[in-house]
Amino acid sequence: MILVLGGAGYIGSHVAKLLRKRNIPHVIADNLEKGHRSACGESAFVQVDIRDANDIHDCVSSLKPEGVMHFASYISVGESMKQPDNYIANNFGGSKNLLNAMAETGVKKIIFSSSAAVYGEPDEIPISEDHTMNPTNTYGQTKKDVEELLQDFGSRNLVRSVSLRYFNAAGADPEGELGEDHRPEEHLIPIAIDAAVGRRSELTVFGNDYETKDGSCIRDYVHVMDLAEAHLLAWESLEDETRLPVRTYNLGSENGFSVFEVIEVVEQVTGLKVPYKIGERREGDPATFVASC
Ligand code: UDP
Repeated sequence: MILVLGGAGYIGSHVAKLLRKRNIPHVIADNLEKGHRSACGESAFVQVDIRDANDIHDCVSSLKPEGVMHFASYISVGESMKQPDNYIANNFGGSKNLLNAMAETGVKKIIFSSSAAVYGEPDEIPISEDHTMNPTNTYGQTKKDVEELLQDFGSRNLVRSVSLRYFNAAGADPEGELGEDHRPEEHLIPIAIDAAVGRRSELTVFGNDYETKDGSCIRDYVHVMDLAEAHLLAWESLEDETRLPVRTYNLGSENGFSVFEVIEVVEQVTGLKVPYKIGERREGDPATFVASC
């Protein structure tokens, strides 16, 4: 059985749906601060907060999972700069509690939701896994710190891990049962769709004077169902004890699209105009961010 921590959130809920479809036994655990109980479908569910060391220890020791998929994390870059302590306590402190609980109860496998934010300003595009890690915000720093913790637990033969560095997760369950539901929403695609259908008055394009083909930022958008498939492959690879005990992979598409291209596609798909204005650059946004997978 796999413990899916943070399985009520955007990416975790899509992975859990794939686990249901493939009949892979699992239990979702989530504190429901950001996640949605309604996104858990028929999966077994327990409410747990990883910031509480006893809570997570009790959860792991009573369920005795074969391993953990760990999605539980705060995800806003901007908020991480305003409330660094919250991000460190939840993303890093919570992961440390989880790893201690796993080591104490002999649970040896984990897939960790890392992020392309570990890299910071890229020296070269596409970005490969051995690019230096120089995060420019607290969110990215917490992901880097957890990866280092996993290295430490791996070198002590306590936990085998795969860290998956997501680029820009996008899209939704093609059956329409799940989707992206962040409050407040900060991501480009849902905001562009909201602007198109009139749920918000307009989209602000954060800068049109970057050194890119049309002046707007270029990102690597990867479909959430592709991310879900990647988790299942990573899980299978963890079963193979001949593989390295600590591994890291980029999850992107190796294709970059600009903000204006995204707007154009939203207009094509919805048949509606996306009202937008040009705003200031967003602090910490690199011009181009594309994965080498
Ligand atoms: N972006 C934008 N307006 C918005 C939100 C995002 O122009 O309201 C841009 C942002 O500058 C970036 C791209 O869209 O270049 C994707 O941003 P998002 O926040 O979705 O993901 P991130 O790249 O920060 O992980």
